[in-house]
Amino acid sequence: MTANRLSTRSIEKVWGRSDLPRAFGLAAPAAQQPVGEIWFEDSKGPRPDLLVKYLLTSEKLSIQVHPDAAAARAYGYPSGKDEAWLVVAAEPGARIGLGLRAPISKAELRAAALDGRIEAMIDWREVSAGDVFFSPAGTIHALGPGLTLVEIQQNVDVTYRLYDYGRPRELHLDEAIAAAIPEPYVAPFEPYAYAPGREILVDSPAFVIERWTIGAGGRLAAGPERPVWLIPVRGGGLIDGQPLEAPTVWVVEDQSRIRIDEGSEVLFAYPGQGVCDALFVDTRIADAPIPGHERRHFVPARRIDPIFR
Ligand SMILES: [Zn+2]
Repeated sequence: MTANRLSTRSIEKVWGRSDLPRAFGLAAPAAQQPVGEIWFEDSKGPRPDLLVKYLLTSEKLSIQVHPDAAAARAYGYPSGKDEAWLVVAAEPGARIGLGLRAPISKAELRAAALDGRIEAMIDWREVSAGDVFFSPAGTIHALGPGLTLVEIQQNVDVTYRLYDYGRPRELHLDEAIAAAIPEPYVAPFEPYAYAPGREILVDSPAFVIERWTIGAGGRLAAGPERPVWLIPVRGGGLIDGQPLEAPTVWVVEDQSRIRIDEGSEVLFAYPGQGVCDALFVDTRIADAPIPGHERRHFVPARRIDPIFR
């Protein structure tokens, strides 16, 4: 079996965009609502552990929280929801809110959500392309306008809105306040270099995310119990002889042959705890010339790939 290129589904959102980057190959939404999320899914097979989306914002998203495993299961969901974002493009001044600036009680949180003071209590931070954030369940969070993100999350559709800027969408105050940790955000880990050009962005109990920026390749050491999602965000290479390029997303469950071109930026995400040490086996494959696919070289830089403009 070869790598599986996931199909896209666009989700309309009031905070989304009507000027989608052409790279997504989606028709303009015309008279419909703007598109806020592009989901990458497999139409067949069992429900996977992870879900990858692009988020495109032109307005603020709700201030929200997701439940942890215990709270989620109490409501019949299969797991809690941790999520992570890679900023692909950000307009100047674009912000992400993560946690509160100071701890408050749950009663104060309820009052602040009801009268809107919560917006000023959020710890907003300006972001730029290349930044990575991990938002574990319980973190009060929000995204501002002007962002294009890759979101990698536990595959469960459960979001509790605390505050929605007066928009008429439903809030879930009781569930949100029960799930929320009304405190400043403390990163549970920092990204670190695992090897030259191989960075561990997220090393959590639910999933691992790696970022590769070095020329590499071989046979990917994936298996049905630990499939690997490949998310090229700049440059790319080849996957089973097909172009690996943004904004595609692929899932590998067995023996795919992969080549990453030097200076690309490719995310690898896989469920479960612990970094997979030898992500590639039989790395000689990477060095074999492939007719018609000249090796490309991308200059690594923290800049916006023009395809996302
Ligand atoms: Zn969220």
